[in-house]
Amino acid sequence: MSTQPDPIKQLILALSRLPGIGEKTAGRLAFFLLNAPEQITQDLAKSLNGLHSRIFFCKKCANFTSANDTHGLCEYCIDTSRNDDVICVVEDVPALISVERTGEFKGRYSVLHGVLSPLDGIGPDRLKIGLLLERLRTTQVTEVILATNPSVEGEATALYLQKLIAPMGIKISRIASGIPMGSNLQYADQLSLAQALLGRRPF
Ligand code: ZN
Repeated sequence: MSTQPDPIKQLILALSRLPGIGEKTAGRLAFFLLNAPEQITQDLAKSLNGLHSRIFFCKKCANFTSANDTHGLCEYCIDTSRNDDVICVVEDVPALISVERTGEFKGRYSVLHGVLSPLDGIGPDRLKIGLLLERLRTTQVTEVILATNPSVEGEATALYLQKLIAPMGIKISRIASGIPMGSNLQYADQLSLAQALLGRRPF
């Protein structure tokens, strides 16, 4: 890559920082963009520009939201047809979208934005746990579904939350098998995830 002019090198470097993109794929994407109609790169730049200032965390569930006219709440928190009694706790927004896609859940969500991972230095303070606990203390919730991924970190996080929530006298359940151990909710097929939600067990 030493013969490439700097802007291309910079683009390849920037793209290679994305998850799942190695230098080879980054190079392919960079040259695709270079050869593509300018509208494509302009649209991409426009959607990236100011992304962090246009998207913020929902005040209730920490889901991402861009709406300014909803008092800082996301589409699931303002939906009056949803059930306030049940909260489904997920690791991240892609997992929320996967659960939503099953069509089996009509309660509210709480997004952690990560899982406990002591080896990576990720402790409880790095997750959006405070928001969830505050909500459980101040609103009437009868069940919390812990839908973190069935991975070592996901299980550890579920166990940690279970210990915090159990003294509040709220029913806690964990998504059932159907999702293989070590997998990610984001990639689970809809049927397996729907079964896992329906077959959730007390935790
Ligand atoms: Zn929300």
